Amino acid sequence: MSLAAALAAEALRVQALLDRLAAIGADPPGITRHAFDARENAAHALAASEAARLGLEVARDAACNLYLTWPGADRAAPRTLLGSHFDSVRHGGNFDGAAGVVAALAAVAALRAVGFVPRADITVAAFRCEEAVWFGLGLIGSRAALGILPPDALDRRRADTGLTLAEHIAGCGGDPGAIRPGARLLPPGPVRCFLEAHIEQAPSLIEAGVPLAVATGIPGNIRHAAIRIAGEDAHVGLPRRFRRDAALAGAEIFTALDAMWAEEDAAGRAMAVTIGRFHTDPARHEITVVAGDFTFSIDLRAYDAPHLAWLERRFHEVLDEVAARRGVAIDPGPRNAAPVGPCDAALRASLATAAARMGVATLPLGSPASHDAANFAATGIPTGLLLIRNANGSHNPREAMDTADLMAAAATFAEWLRAEA
Ligand SMILES: [Zn+2]
Repeated sequence: MSLAAALAAEALRVQALLDRLAAIGADPPGITRHAFDARENAAHALAASEAARLGLEVARDAACNLYLTWPGADRAAPRTLLGSHFDSVRHGGNFDGAAGVVAALAAVAALRAVGFVPRADITVAAFRCEEAVWFGLGLIGSRAALGILPPDALDRRRADTGLTLAEHIAGCGGDPGAIRPGARLLPPGPVRCFLEAHIEQAPSLIEAGVPLAVATGIPGNIRHAAIRIAGEDAHVGLPRRFRRDAALAGAEIFTALDAMWAEEDAAGRAMAVTIGRFHTDPARHEITVVAGDFTFSIDLRAYDAPHLAWLERRFHEVLDEVAARRGVAIDPGPRNAAPVGPCDAALRASLATAAARMGVATLPLGSPASHDAANFAATGIPTGLLLIRNANGSHNPREAMDTADLMAAAATFAEWLRAEA
């Protein structure tokens, strides 16, 4: 049987797996697979049962990440790791994260069907809690696996349950005490590279009519979840020169950052700035009140570290300028950061070659979003990322990926593994 025929035979099983994952997460409208909770556990159990069917070794680390290993002929040789995550945002889609684990498993299944024998171990990983919505910090499982989880993360509380990350990890059978900076939880032995497939969270591939992109890099980000502007509540009759209007200060910051983005765009320097929260206090601020209090969030992202550092400096300059001009005080609050993740040039080339050999068209594309892959790249492990065509974006119930496009990613992984692993 050819690899293409084996992949074609695998497509029905992949569809069934995606349907079962949708059933696990069903939370109309959309899908919710809470991190470190019953639904994420159920998705991990489903992947482990698939691995048992394929004869893979099943292991879990102290952070409850799942590792499904196909032993190679030389068990000491550097392993290839592939994977992504199963958790979702609230009322999100079925494919953000899950597609990557399923594609990697499908590649392994097809290679087993054609009698391939790997030279080194191939491990499919499912990392916990990639989404930042649960604990206000994203990529938690992969950070823990690489020993780069910030030390205070274990004390963070999940927004809805009020339980700490440590309590959630223990509740899933993990060992929070073993999660420490510098303590790698990955399966033992050297890692040759990390490969991830993930749905694209923008419509670039839809626009281009191409099923797959080989990512050029993963943006790092700087985040402040709650920036407080303190001015002074006042009567609507107060003349302009006396006002310390926190809402106008917020608006001025927003437009200044958007102007900065437009300049960077025009200069061809890829970045993004997103203000998600942007509000006065509705309990205090009425139609006749000048708002003396304003809160907003920010996510700044860029593809190389010096550029991101420059953007962060510019952001703080904007805050200082606006604070001085408007007579307000601005407290940026806690800062979170994720490192930039450059994709490995040799892997980019070999993934594109593998796709072409399987008749899959690809284009190079900067990943619009951060992914577990970024942590591997940031810790010096050669990293490759495939982006799968997906309509309607992500983190919403309308997410829409064709299974055929997921199989294009599986075919690319399978051919890459056949040639390289
Ligand atoms: Zn994701």
